[in-house]
Amino acid sequence: MIYLTSFKRSRELPSEVVRYSAAVYQPKGYKMWEASCFKITDSDRKWIRPREFIDKKNPLISYRRALVNLYDGRVRKNKIEKFLDDCHGSDIALCCWCPYEKAAVRQLDQFGSFVCHLSVVGYWLKENHPEIPLWLDSDRLSMAVLTQKVL
Ligand SMILES: [Zn+2]
Repeated sequence: MIYLTSFKRSRELPSEVVRYSAAVYQPKGYKMWEASCFKITDSDRKWIRPREFIDKKNPLISYRRALVNLYDGRVRKNKIEKFLDDCHGSDIALCCWCPYEKAAVRQLDQFGSFVCHLSVVGYWLKENHPEIPLWLDSDRLSMAVLTQKVL
């Protein structure tokens, strides 16, 4: 099982679940293992964030497409596959900040929802590894409808 959640709510998971940070950096006081293959930085270290797509016709779809392209890239995809192999099917959690940091709070204020790269990670995993059960916390479930057709 792969749990998709936030740093904050990772405390609610069963203790045997191995927690990984899927964020570019971690909140103060956290020292999780790094799942850098799921970070949103591209090969030029540029961050792929929802706000770069706000002027596009379909901002959410454009954002999702850019991230999926990133994870589908040959080098990155190999890294993800290696990461998954190294997990040997054990229960892990991928954690990010949302929606407990400034950008997400602003999105919640403005749009009544927020966008998180972990929902795209979930979509990518479902497409590429349908055999791996996914668990999304209620924060990510509430926004999954915005960015994906099927989970
Ligand atoms: Zn997030």
